[in-house]
Amino acid sequence: MLTPPQRNFLPQVIEPRRLVNQGVTLTGEINPDLCLRLSEAVVEISEPIMANLVFDTAEQGRKVVRGSASTTVLMACQRCLEPMKLSLAVEMALCIVWSEEKAKLLPRDLDPWIVEDEAGDITALVEDELLLALPFVMYHPEDQCNTAASYSTGEGLGDVAEENPFGVLAQLTREQLKDSGSDN
Ligand SMILES: [Zn+2]
Repeated sequence: MLTPPQRNFLPQVIEPRRLVNQGVTLTGEINPDLCLRLSEAVVEISEPIMANLVFDTAEQGRKVVRGSASTTVLMACQRCLEPMKLSLAVEMALCIVWSEEKAKLLPRDLDPWIVEDEAGDITALVEDELLLALPFVMYHPEDQCNTAASYSTGEGLGDVAEENPFGVLAQLTREQLKDSGSDN
């Protein structure tokens, strides 16, 4: 992928209530360098974090932010530990509230975004949503996992390794892969 010569990130901190009053839509890239929690949860954030956030007034004068965010990350397969790609796409509908107390009064379909003063951190907001979308563990599909070799190289098995049924299985799997022309 070509890296654009200049990356214009969305501002990290905004004034969400003012944006609601102005009916602003923010579309752009979230700076991944500011998403330390997401960075630590994955092997790599491999594609730009794109966000589209609409600041709007809903029923009963509620100030809401609706939108979506997406990126692609690499996560370690928990079977073979090789990184695998995972596309993340989240939809959000959040009501901007001043406090936990106010948050409790919201209808179920609106999640709160608690912003206790004028400034709200949209980078953290988008990062939170992406973190919630991460699976707890990930595995390659079994036929694409890179574990086959590890079964046939058990240590300290000596002669037994010759009869290790998993060794035969691994051999078969590799030959099948070769036959199908897919070594991926
Ligand atoms: Zn795997």
